[in-house]
Amino acid sequence: MPATPVDRLIAYCKEIGCPFLEQEPLSRHTSFRIGGPARLFLQPHRTEQLAGLAEMVRESGLPWVVMGNGSNVLAADEGFPGVVIQMGPRFSAIELEGEGRLRCQAGASLAAVSRFSAENGLSGMEFACGIPGAVGGAVYMNAGAYGGEIAQRLLSVVQVAVPREGRPFLERIPADELDFSYRHSRYQSRELGDERVEIIAEAVFQLEPGDRENSLAKMEELLQSRREKQPLEYPSAGSTFKRPEGSYASLLIDQCGLKGLRVGGAQVSEKHAGFIVNLGGASCKDVEELIAVVQQRVREETGYLLLPEVRLLKNGWNLGL
Ligand SMILES: Cc1cc2nc3c(=O)[nH]c(=O)nc-3n(C[C@H](O)[C@H](O)[C@H](O)COP(=O)(O)OP(=O)(O)OC[C@H]3O[C@@H](n4cnc5c(N)ncnc54)[C@H](O)[C@@H]3O)c2cc1C
Repeated sequence: MPATPVDRLIAYCKEIGCPFLEQEPLSRHTSFRIGGPARLFLQPHRTEQLAGLAEMVRESGLPWVVMGNGSNVLAADEGFPGVVIQMGPRFSAIELEGEGRLRCQAGASLAAVSRFSAENGLSGMEFACGIPGAVGGAVYMNAGAYGGEIAQRLLSVVQVAVPREGRPFLERIPADELDFSYRHSRYQSRELGDERVEIIAEAVFQLEPGDRENSLAKMEELLQSRREKQPLEYPSAGSTFKRPEGSYASLLIDQCGLKGLRVGGAQVSEKHAGFIVNLGGASCKDVEELIAVVQQRVREETGYLLLPEVRLLKNGWNLGL
């Protein structure tokens, strides 16, 4: 019997030593704890593996996506019928480059990056200590909090460019070519049927000399503020909606009396209206329905259109949600 595309990919992963999981529940890899199985879940751990792996994945003809820590992802109950390339914990080295520069692999968690910076007497990443994403996802989203955002500290990225045809290749891109704005980078526009896909492999941050104790104290203060304000006791994907111009999503949702509203196991958090939480056993469908109700009620009562910040993964990234 001829080998299937999945068999061929598995054989290739074995050949290059890339860890993989079959029919892996995405609920294990998303902070929402929601999502059915991915047909193949790849966990590359060396930069040199990436271009070849990306080529094999593209050539397989299967749908494929890249994921980081899954902290901004709502994955479908049916799962994903293709390949997920996880740039996560297995791809997470952090090293000092000198002159305040930090080189991080895409799967390094922001918590680890901010702690590593502080421990080495560098300041500038404290804002990121409580964001549960990895570096690649944070660049992709231009993640930010408490007045800081990734774009302010990013010098450059190393990425794998995966053209429609021809060999994928590694390239370094300076941060000023990444078209950053509020929770936006050029990577998000790339998905809209562009000529190539890009996988972030590494990022270099420019930090400034700081004081270890001051940085650690600042981080503890920010983490404490999160613990007080955010429903961290439940799985979620953080803020469900982007901040609309001229207001705040949580304020509008609260004004409409929607705190505590439930669909199945999904609830608009009673602690922070900007979060939808999984009370236990929530399905993707529950969350989608709740999002639609919140959007409709806020639109009717305030005129604001809330756009989701959370990314829906069905057969691919579903940008409209
Ligand atoms: C409790 C909680 C609090 C949060 N607080 C904040 C906050 O304060 N500020 C904030 O900005 N966000 C916050 N978030 C949301 C989330 O942590 C961020 O959006 C984070 O940047 C997502 O990173 P990730 O690694 O989890 O990416 P994922 O969720 O895995 O992926 C997000 C997107 O990035 C793409 N991507 C990921 N890695 C790569 C890569 N290597 N190459 C190319 N594309 C990639 C994926 O394809 C996907 O489209 C919070 C989430 C939770 C659960």
